This record gives sequence, C-alpha cells and structure tokens, in this order.
Amino acid sequence: MGGYPHEMIENPPPCPKCSCEYTYEMNALVVCPECGHEWVPANGSTEAEAGAGERVVKDSVGNVLQDGDTVVVVKALKVKGSPSGIKAGTKVRNIRLVDGVDEHDIDCKVDGFGAMQLKSSVVKKA
Ligand SMILES: [Zn+2]
Repeated sequence: MGGYPHEMIENPPPCPKCSCEYTYEMNALVVCPECGHEWVPANGSTEAEAGAGERVVKDSVGNVLQDGDTVVVVKALKVKGSPSGIKAGTKVRNIRLVDGVDEHDIDCKVDGFGAMQLKSSVVKKA
C-alpha cells in the first residue's frame, strides 16, 4: 500500500480559465500561477484510477481473487454477537473485493451470518 506512483506531466496544459501557459504540476493537480486556478488534468486522473484498479487481492495461499469468486474460510473466525462464529471450511459465494478497513478486503454474505467483511488472508479460493 504505497499510494500512487508519482506521475510527471511533461507539458501541463494551459490554464482553462486564463489560458496562461506557465502552469505547473503540484501533486495530482495542475496549478496556474496567474489566476491561482487548480484542476486535475484528464491524464493524471486516469493514471490514478488505473493504479487503484491494479490492486491485487490474494487469498491465504496466493491465488488471485476476483469479484464473484467462491472462497472457503480456512480458519475459525469470531463474529460479534455469535456464540459459534464462522467455522473453518465455511463456503462463501460471490465475494466482492473492496478497499476495506484494516485489511478487510472482501465484502460478502456468509450463510447464517449475513453481510460482512473478511480478510483475504483467512480464505482460500474454492
Ligand atoms: Zn489561470
């Protein structure tokens, strides 16, 4: 999780407001020194989105997971409010990969428990 690679924009576009050509890049923005207008160049935002989309989620043994996959929970998990929790071997269908909090990168529904988020490190692709 190192963030986005820094993208240099070779020739920042002229300012759309005052058409000043001496614009410069600052982080993901292009800044106009004349009027102070700041905007996201079309180029830069695409790069950022492409970078985010390349995030690969792998299961406990290194298989790459995708939306819609069926996985098996490989270890017993405690669930708030449930005395038994999720047992190892529980099948979870139709997972959705998310950018969850604290490495909970799988959004899914577990039979008997409902919607929840799991860590990819506790599942294996079925
Ligand atoms: Zn300007």
